[in-house]
Parts: sequence; structure tokens; C-alpha cells
Amino acid sequence: MRGFQQEQLDLFIFVDALGWRIVEEYGFLSDELPDQEPCDTVFGYSSACDPSILTGKLPQEHGHFSCFLKAENKSASPFASLGKLGWLPELVAGHHRLRSRLSRMLAKKLEYTGYFQLYSVPFSCLPYLDYTEKNDIYAPGGIINGNATVFSHWQASRKPWFRSDWHQSDKMNIAQVRNKIDQQSIQLGYLFTSGLDAAMHRHGTKGVGTSDAIDCLEQQIRDLFELASRRYKDVRFHVFSDHGMTNTVDTSDLMPRWEKETGLRYGADYVAVWDSTMARFWFDNEHARERAIRKLEQEKDGYIVREDQLAQWGCKFEDHRYGELFYLLNPGVLFVPSFMNQRFVTGMHGYAPEHQDSKACWLTNAELESHPRSIDKIFDVMVNASDRPEKAASQVSKSTVTVS
Ligand SMILES: [Zn+2]
Repeated sequence: MRGFQQEQLDLFIFVDALGWRIVEEYGFLSDELPDQEPCDTVFGYSSACDPSILTGKLPQEHGHFSCFLKAENKSASPFASLGKLGWLPELVAGHHRLRSRLSRMLAKKLEYTGYFQLYSVPFSCLPYLDYTEKNDIYAPGGIINGNATVFSHWQASRKPWFRSDWHQSDKMNIAQVRNKIDQQSIQLGYLFTSGLDAAMHRHGTKGVGTSDAIDCLEQQIRDLFELASRRYKDVRFHVFSDHGMTNTVDTSDLMPRWEKETGLRYGADYVAVWDSTMARFWFDNEHARERAIRKLEQEKDGYIVREDQLAQWGCKFEDHRYGELFYLLNPGVLFVPSFMNQRFVTGMHGYAPEHQDSKACWLTNAELESHPRSIDKIFDVMVNASDRPEKAASQVSKSTVTVS
């Protein structure tokens, strides 16, 4: 006997870094989800993009942009005590496992519930820095500027809903949502997956490890779809991403050259955060600012991002909390080393959002009036799903009456 078939399901499947180019190249789920469109991303990394998906706002509105930023002063830095570790030899200090363990210990001590990683930030620089995602952005009250997320709308709708826990593995998250679908206990679901992002950082967009990860994910979504179609009358699956992925074609060693070639001193003249694809600077004096601008203008691997460009991207923070000067690398160039990675990484994101490899995707089997053209508009589709009248259910019972 077949299961119940009177309810609606809207499942929103977040696939970190599933760019539009990858969707096209691999024909990702083109049979199950035939309505496929590119979706503009937001400038920055997942730390900027994901809050935009959850709130429908741009970074300058929700307040999130990048993990690290300059602390208001040294005593305000949550990492003030870590400067003492600055004497540790780089190899020891940069050891991946030591860093991860220390990150976990620190997050606990500081009572951070958000995604926290020290990455490769030198211990000597940490006391000048602060951290953005202190609270879990998926939990109530987690957005810096206090914006409501889609989940508060879902909660208010009184429809049964579920979202994955990003702390857990993809396997665990998929198993949980599968269980919910099997029990027909939800009408709205947000499935979080990040495995493809990790695979592409490691193998690039064309590596065997990546095509295996894509095949596996496709099969998992197909299986969910098949089960949902047996359990629900009206199944809408929506797959989307936060940004794409670019293969690394060149590297820049500007970070280790910086002080030698400019004569500037970290903490005395300036503070900087060297993300994987951009460097953000704050200056203590005019000389340092002019010197840095002159130096950056000579570099061939990237460019200084103008204020009006930042404003156009929705990343113009009036208080310059994420930097007074942004230097962005050209697509495919990676800082090696940077504060985020000490070594070469095969795939990266966080370049100009207009670049073809930066574009995110929107894939659905639902007939919608319009597609979200940018990732912050996915919020509207998710909110609308919770307002959807239970049309399918009433039509089913009506037609049953007519036939009988
Ligand atoms: Zn990533």
C-alpha cells in the first residue's frame, strides 16, 4: 500500500559552492529539477553569502562579511592573550591539527556558537583582530544586525519545518531529513550540505574527487526525491548555492613580501587581514596608507576595489569595519600563504562576483512566477513557501469527491 499523499513538501537544499558553471558542465540533476538558472552571488565568502540567503539582505544590511576584522583596540580583541604564542616557530604554530584543537578550545572558552576557525592567522597578529561569527547565524538572534531569518518566518507560519545542523556531516544531515520525509512530519525543510565545497577546494572543479562527490550528491538527492514523491502529493525540491568555485591558476606571495617591500610594521603602521583572495587594510597613519596604495598599484595580480564598487556589491560599511582598503586578486589567483591557508589550494572562491565562475545556481522542479536572480532573493522564495496555501490537498479531496 502506498503512503499518505495529501501533503505538500518544499525542500530547500543548500549545496555550498555548487556554481552555475558546474551545474552546466555536469548537467546536475537536469532531469529531476528541469528549471535551472544562474544566480548572482554576493561579494565575499560563505560568511557573507550565507547570511544573505538566510535574511534576504546584503552584507552592509545584515552586518556579516568576513571572519576576521580589526579589533577596536587591543584590549577589545578576544584573542589578546594569544599574542604570547607569537614566539612559536611558524611550522608548529601553523600545524593544522594544533590549530583545529586550539580553535575548538577557544570557541568553548569564548562561548562562541558560530562557525569558528583560527585558520592560519599568525598568533602575533591575532591580538589586533576580532571575529565576526560569534553566534550561530542559523539560530534565533544569530545575525549581527538583528535581522530575522527565514526560519523565524517558518516558525510563525505554524507549518511543520526542519533545518539541518551545520555542525554535522552531510551524511548525517541527509539521513535526518530523509527520516523526516519518511515520517511525513515536515512541510518545509532546509538541508545543509558542505561536502562539495571541500571536495572542490581539494580537487578543483574537474578533478576525479569532485566528479565523484557530484555523482554521490546527485544520487542522494534523487533518492530523497523518490522517497518524497511516495510520501507527499505535492513535492517541490529547490537546490541552490551561495557561490561558485574557480580553479587556481596562479599564486601571489605578496603577504610575505609586504613588510620587506613597504617598510610598514603590523600593529604600528597598519593592521591587515589576508584572506585567500583579498587583503583588507586599516591604517594608523597617512604615510602608511599612501605607501600601501602605491605598492598595491604596482602589483599585477589584483586591484584596489573602489568604494563605489563596494557600494554596488552591497558591501560598503560606513564604519569601514571590514577594512579601509580592499585589494582583490584576479579570478584564479590565490595568496600563498595567507591568513586562511599556508599552502596551495586547487580551487577557491571569493573573487569578483560578476566573474562567470563566481555565479551561484538555482534549480527547481516548481513552477514559480519568477526565479531568484541573486542569492539574497532566495529568501523570498523560502518565505513564500511557508505562505503557500494547501491547494494540492484540497484539490485532491475535491476530485476524489467528484469521481466517487
Ligand atoms: Zn569554500
